[in-house]
Amino acid sequence: MPTDCLFRDDAYLRDCRATVLGITDQGGLVLDRTVFYATSGGQPGDRGVLVTAGGAEIPIGTAVYTDAAKSDIAHVPADGAGRPNVGEAATARIDWELRYARMRMHTALHLLSAVLPYAVTGGSVGDAESRLDFDIPEAGLDKDEITAKLNEMIAADAEVRSRWISDEELAANPGLVKTMSVKPPMGTGRVRLIEIVGFDLQPCGGTHVRRTSEIGAVRVTQIEKKGKLNRRVRLALA
Ligand SMILES: [Zn+2]
Repeated sequence: MPTDCLFRDDAYLRDCRATVLGITDQGGLVLDRTVFYATSGGQPGDRGVLVTAGGAEIPIGTAVYTDAAKSDIAHVPADGAGRPNVGEAATARIDWELRYARMRMHTALHLLSAVLPYAVTGGSVGDAESRLDFDIPEAGLDKDEITAKLNEMIAADAEVRSRWISDEELAANPGLVKTMSVKPPMGTGRVRLIEIVGFDLQPCGGTHVRRTSEIGAVRVTQIEKKGKLNRRVRLALA
């Protein structure tokens, strides 16, 4: 039975009741449902705790998919932590401060891809800094100019919406895919589109804030040349 990924429909859920379905060979705990985002698309898996029915807190270092189809999520306990038994009930609770910062960062990266409308070749959401790599043949990018445009979009308080479309609809609209290195997850029959109203539309499985104003001020910290056709743009929450 696949893990019910509650974060896909509501990124603001901080905890949920769940049942331990299994334990992987690496000791990861697979639950029937979870609020833990699992590492993918450049966004790291959530940290948090699993609270057993007896009240014991098991620290979880990260969450990862156990399979290429991204159906099961393993919650990886920190070293030396105890383990609940299969069939036991538990409460899964994420480190909300950390996750919310990542939601703000991640949404800011969508805006960055709108400010710089070039193909994206890679990216990652970090806790201090996040980055996107662009396929841009020439330099001439200005940190302050990009920062100003980003902060304008943030101040516009644009709504961030999600909706699902079929694999066929996505295949018919290849222009929606900005990221060449990370193909949107297809094959399950549907793909989630994230729209920042007025600014950006692209398939994405990550976690986002509801309105751009929640991001708060950001700053482009560095623009690096990564090979002839690549520019790496780093940004941080101000
Ligand atoms: Zn996203």
